[in-house]
Amino acid sequence: VANLKTKWLGHHIHYCELTTSTNELAKRLAGEGCEDGLVVIAEEQNSGKGRLSRGWFSPFARGVWFSVVLKPPFMPQEASKCTLLAAIAVVKAVNKYKGVQASIKWPNDVLLDGKKLVGILTEMSAEFGRINYIVIGTGINVNVPKEMVPEELRATAVSLADVAREPISRVELLADVLGYMEELYEKVLHEGFKPVLEEWKKYSSTLGQQVKVIAPDQTYFGEAVDIDEDGLLMVKREDGRIEKVIAGDVSIRPA
Ligand code: ADP
Repeated sequence: VANLKTKWLGHHIHYCELTTSTNELAKRLAGEGCEDGLVVIAEEQNSGKGRLSRGWFSPFARGVWFSVVLKPPFMPQEASKCTLLAAIAVVKAVNKYKGVQASIKWPNDVLLDGKKLVGILTEMSAEFGRINYIVIGTGINVNVPKEMVPEELRATAVSLADVAREPISRVELLADVLGYMEELYEKVLHEGFKPVLEEWKKYSSTLGQQVKVIAPDQTYFGEAVDIDEDGLLMVKREDGRIEKVIAGDVSIRPA
């Protein structure tokens, strides 16, 4: 990757033109014992993954579709916070383009003009209370022309090229994201998650908003007031009770 300024992240790259999903491939390589910091990149995914078995549309050479393998020393329950870390890295990288001001929708989406620019999916393998590896998959829509976008996504998806007022190099964008990821990850290793969670709040478009929480067992409205030290969203319900929302089980919709 040209312009890569990292110390270790992405020094090994597994590149392919087409794969099912970079997360699937990264998990396989991690299971076979690949090194910490491996990055899997595909020009196209024909079965890209979102959360809760949803798909991610990833047409050939139109985005940055990649997954990172990390072997962190922290507890399995901390892994989900890596999604927040990845979201910050992407927002910092895309916001360098002129005219772009993206924000993070808790927990795993990066929005631009209220539409989805990036999806992030973190998956983990853990055993005996320890993490074997985590895989953070990120899909950035760089230049997916509107007419190429499936009908059902047209109103909600956006590409960087729709908004940026300058040309975008996918390689430079990837190098930038990896640079920020490494920086943030090393910060977590040295100082824990607290500073990174604080930084996340600066880029969040969810905090302060009225939200509708759709959980498997209940649906309710409230105000997203904060995230706690585990990265859970704290929602203040109309009766004043605070609910902590776990990323895995819910969809948040603006109320
Ligand atoms: P959610 O936003 O509900 O958490 P995910 O983050 O798991 O969902 O993302 C998957 C969803 O994103 C899909 O169900 C689809 O609606 C939408 N989607 C799929 N591909 C793209 C894309 N390239 N750009 C924007 N949105 C997409």
